[in-house]
Amino acid sequence: MKAQPLSASDGAASHHTCLLPGGYLDQNDELHREAELVCLSGRHEESLASRPESVPAAVLVTQILSQCVKRIGSVCPVTDDVARRLLVADRQYLLLKLREVTFGDRVEGTLGCPWPTCGAKVDIDFSIADLPVKRCEQVAPTYQVELTPEASPVDADGATHRTITFRLPNGADQESLAPGVADDPARTLTRLLERCIVGTETGCDEGSDLVDRLTARARREIEGAMEATAPRLELEMDLACPECGRAFTAPFELQDFFFGELNTTQDMLYRQVHYLAYHYHWSESEILAMPRDKRLAYIGVLADEIEALNSAV
Ligand SMILES: [Zn+2]
Repeated sequence: MKAQPLSASDGAASHHTCLLPGGYLDQNDELHREAELVCLSGRHEESLASRPESVPAAVLVTQILSQCVKRIGSVCPVTDDVARRLLVADRQYLLLKLREVTFGDRVEGTLGCPWPTCGAKVDIDFSIADLPVKRCEQVAPTYQVELTPEASPVDADGATHRTITFRLPNGADQESLAPGVADDPARTLTRLLERCIVGTETGCDEGSDLVDRLTARARREIEGAMEATAPRLELEMDLACPECGRAFTAPFELQDFFFGELNTTQDMLYRQVHYLAYHYHWSESEILAMPRDKRLAYIGVLADEIEALNSAV
């Protein structure tokens, strides 16, 4: 089999840019919005395949983003710490963009119909570019919400707090809260508020005492203000079951989908490397620098040629 040796530049991934729905605020509160990323290579798949199962998805997202996002505005390199300080919607957006540049814009899959008596498979099929994105024009380190008098919490010494200062949830919050999310979602939400409420008009900055004193109404007002301020990706899908005809809404589980799609075993990956190295004489690092689609395309070409040779004999 004749093949040209692959040069290092052929293996280098091309760079793509996109505009974050929120943006990254650096230490000087300067906002950086344009992100530059490269598609996922075999190397990234290898590091994902060798991870311990107990690593929470939020931690993986941080790792993947710091490996594949090369620059945000003038912030370069994008370290784990930078990836952690990105807003939740910016992390989701970057994950979607990574998926788009690696495997394409079209998302196809199936979900189970939620009706217990049905459970039929429902197809999902959409393009990433069509997902509605609520952008945030005024990203700030903190925001203030004025509570209604009925909702304002009262101190032990009788002082009433009307103005609550909060920041928006980011990757560090997701990583820190990940272990409890499945077991106790209500407790997780309380801890998120404790982390994100940074003060009141009297300047106190302890979150947990204050959150304990918040009424349900005050929490709703604060959560509503956070939602109104934060950038957001609309990941809810309106679906109809072809079997029972019922309409329902389901969230697109972005992280599960992303990591599920990437779930190559090390064994499969090393077989691909072996096959390509054996026939093309490329090095392991050249092969692992390629995105999956490209590796599989070459393997497909080889398989066709081998079959053509066999049938010619
Ligand atoms: Zn159904």
